[in-house]
Amino acid sequence: MKQKVIVIGGGIAGLSAGIYALQSGFAVDLYEKNAALGGECTGWDRQGYHIDNCIHWLTGCRREDELNQIWREIGALDDTVAVYREPYFYRLVSDGNTLHFWSDIERARREFLDLAPEDADEINRFFDCVKYAECVRVPCEKSLAEMNLIEYLRFGMTMAGMGPVIKEYGEDSIDDLAGRFRNPYVREMMRCYMNGSYKAVALLSSYGFYSSKTAGIPMGGSVEMVRRIAERFEAMGGKLHRNMAAERIEIRNRLAQAVVFADGSVVSCDAVICAADTAVTFGRLLDAGYMDRKLRKMYETPGGYRTSSGFQAAFGIIGAADCGVESGSTVFLCDSFRVGRQELDHMGMRLYDYDAKLFPPDRRVIQCNILQDEDDYEYWRELYEDRERYNAEKHRIAEEMRSRLEESFPLLKDRLILLDAYSPMTFTKWCGAYKGAYMSFFEQKGYKSFTVKNRVRGLRNVFLASQWLSVNGGLPLAAVSGKFAAQSLANS
Ligand SMILES: Cc1cc2nc3c(=O)[nH]c(=O)nc-3n(C[C@H](O)[C@H](O)[C@H](O)COP(=O)(O)OP(=O)(O)OC[C@H]3O[C@@H](n4cnc5c(N)ncnc54)[C@H](O)[C@@H]3O)c2cc1C
Repeated sequence: MKQKVIVIGGGIAGLSAGIYALQSGFAVDLYEKNAALGGECTGWDRQGYHIDNCIHWLTGCRREDELNQIWREIGALDDTVAVYREPYFYRLVSDGNTLHFWSDIERARREFLDLAPEDADEINRFFDCVKYAECVRVPCEKSLAEMNLIEYLRFGMTMAGMGPVIKEYGEDSIDDLAGRFRNPYVREMMRCYMNGSYKAVALLSSYGFYSSKTAGIPMGGSVEMVRRIAERFEAMGGKLHRNMAAERIEIRNRLAQAVVFADGSVVSCDAVICAADTAVTFGRLLDAGYMDRKLRKMYETPGGYRTSSGFQAAFGIIGAADCGVESGSTVFLCDSFRVGRQELDHMGMRLYDYDAKLFPPDRRVIQCNILQDEDDYEYWRELYEDRERYNAEKHRIAEEMRSRLEESFPLLKDRLILLDAYSPMTFTKWCGAYKGAYMSFFEQKGYKSFTVKNRVRGLRNVFLASQWLSVNGGLPLAAVSGKFAAQSLANS
């Protein structure tokens, strides 16, 4: 008889954990609270248009990447899936000037030097360091939390190229980085990336994903990728149960005995992998006292470990005629407007036109995304109590966005259909996302990064898979956490 494992949560971490547990010989039942799998890796259709709400970039898209092996093992990528590589990471349009973080670093360097020769030294230093940062990778063999000193040093050596980057920018926040430049557009370009208190190294390494070409977008987008992974899970014998929200895990003698579901059913098991957001796992599925102290530290030190979410609106573009917007992500300056608790004078938007099946020429989509922080989340949470005001506010912001898009890109005038507008609360409702966050904690300047073990301290047969086990989060960390949870299970 195979041992029976329950996976709670059908996001990328849960599906990955399920596949690796099946590979290790367990019988696996995966329970997802929603009708659709994927969690934050999701997309949906509105009025004949498709909103792909996750993959802007997937790292591990090069065949030679160690991570690529994991994507192949779980069925996310294979030789039949074409990968689109964007020409640039993002661009800034401001007062008639345009700066791109081109994937071709030398092209970007020339553009920056032409615009801001007064910053030549800093510009050269920055682009040299992005090149060094191309060595950043996630551990794929073993969790950092499980490595012994030698393994840890060996893994560190694979990223030795980061030495000069850490030396130069290790202590810098995004604001510090921006402050190194005299040219106001270059400063603005750096600040567009994230909240000013976030670590500058995150910008350099993210840009390095583009320049090294490890980042790409699998054709078919987020929904198709999840479908392929779920198909792999079922083909290996895994059982999927949708619309099944777990309520709690029954524990006796330090062992999980069963999982109790919202519909009242109780399913017994030999082991559980919790792949829900860790804020759901601890406090709802399990007593909060089981939380690892490193993870607890991140929740309890809000100034040191912050989360980011967003307010988004998606617009369909009417017709196939030129819309005057470059494909990819653009930040542009605009008249100020309020979103959450912030007054903003710039806006981020992204044109989706790279996948002819998802976004045919007469079905292109623009998504606007405004970064929201934890204060903003509280604003949305309170507003959500009054559904009418909440909906009206979402609509107001979407219309403000529409007017700014039309003003900055006149070919969009009278051609935008509002498809949907969604706030951080949408993600909390959809998949239990802590503070509506897209990724996990971002450690702030002066705070250390952490990786949390995949086994739950004090319990012998409960394991964790989630992007929240590491700082920064994202799809790769969700996928590897699933693999590591199954490893811990197999070794237990
Ligand atoms: C707008 C946006 C853009 C993003 N862009 C990128 C990108 O370009 N690249 C990238 O790498 N990452 C990106 N991410 C991040 C990425 O989507 C996440 O890192 C990843 O999907 C997290 O996976 P997870 O499995 O850890 O968590 P989740 O996706 O949160 O999965 C948890 C699952 O558990 C389910 N669940 C919760 N509670 C229960 C319960 N009680 N019972 C049963 N099931 C439950 C949830 O419904 C969910 O399906 C983006 C995220 C967002 C929101």
